[in-house]
Amino acid sequence: MLIELPRLLPNEHILSVLARWFDGTGRNDFLMTSKWVSTNLSKLNASTIWRPVYSDLMSHYADTTGVDKIISEHTLVHYYRSFIAKPQYTLLQKAITAGARHKVIPSLQNSVAGVCTWRWCQSCADEDYEEYGVTYWHTYHQIPTMLRCYKHQTPLVSRCQSCDFKYMSFQRHWLPPVNGGCLECGEIVEVPTVLKSTTSYWLDAVSIALQQKQTDLTLNVFLELMREKLGYQCLPRNIPLALRKEIVEIQKAFERSLEGSVISTYFTREQEDIYKQGQKVLNIITTVYRNSQVPPISLLLMLRSLGLEHELTKLLLDSYS
Ligand SMILES: [Zn+2]
Ligand SMILES: [Zn+2]
Repeated sequence: MLIELPRLLPNEHILSVLARWFDGTGRNDFLMTSKWVSTNLSKLNASTIWRPVYSDLMSHYADTTGVDKIISEHTLVHYYRSFIAKPQYTLLQKAITAGARHKVIPSLQNSVAGVCTWRWCQSCADEDYEEYGVTYWHTYHQIPTMLRCYKHQTPLVSRCQSCDFKYMSFQRHWLPPVNGGCLECGEIVEVPTVLKSTTSYWLDAVSIALQQKQTDLTLNVFLELMREKLGYQCLPRNIPLALRKEIVEIQKAFERSLEGSVISTYFTREQEDIYKQGQKVLNIITTVYRNSQVPPISLLLMLRSLGLEHELTKLLLDSYS
């Protein structure tokens, strides 16, 4: 059966075309119907950087839209790629250029809030409906370190407050609502109140830049910046006592720099749990010196806490020109 998918709309996440195609079939079982397009339909949300379903969908557009445009506008590859280590990056490249059936998932992603639910901006949904006759999922709205819409600056919505419905897959409902009416219970979905701290606005801005700009920043550049700032190129396996004390202080200062609201907004775990001994999500030392990979939110918070936000901004601007 020859499937014709709808054309990609501006800044539409590539998985969203599957939801719109299915909507057009008028059927009601998403998984059964979408098997015609791809057999890789588990976890249909934006929490992974790449899955085989991306290749399946991309094959429909490679000749018309072009691979580069698909990657930059319709996936989160640009946002994530500066945070993954070389082996993962290589897998990602193979998946993109040769269609290899790889799955590339950011480390410790289950500690990050909001990655498994589709998010939308009600103003965008209403404008899209007006303009294209359909609502869809925007790529930028799925960036986990952004709390507000890249166009309207209004808080992104991820659930209905009345019935707690969330879009974790497309099985029950598959497109954002028109006029804000929850598709599950019919109530108007409230726009949530989100963090208004300078950290959160900074994260919004840096996230847009990472996604938008064709940066070739690698994880090593970030780690090198931090190593320089901390004053050690590497740490011995057995750390002498004096140095150990210093390290404990560095970590404590980092933890003090993060308000509790930052933890509850961006992470799925409680503050006590996240700072537990041996944890790796917000551990500067294991991240910088022990090759422990962390999600973008962790690394960005570390850079900011070490006072490196201007260096980061500069790198993002430089790589743009
Ligand atoms: Zn919007
Ligand atoms: Zn509802």
